[in-house]
Amino acid sequence: MPTYEFSCKNCAKKFTVFTPISQKSEVRCPSCSSAELKQIFSNPFSFLKSKDVCRIPPRGGFG
Ligand SMILES: [Zn+2]
Repeated sequence: MPTYEFSCKNCAKKFTVFTPISQKSEVRCPSCSSAELKQIFSNPFSFLKSKDVCRIPPRGGFG
């Protein structure tokens, strides 16, 4: 089953869902139940082109 990563436009929560593509539009935020979600496309494909990934160090380093 495909996984999708979403960011909630209402509360900014990020979460991953496992759902058939036919039910993707029925996904709700687990935190606030909002349907105003923005799908994040970066992660599902990152492994496909890991060779070309530009590694950006986290802001402020590793602590
Ligand atoms: Zn939310």
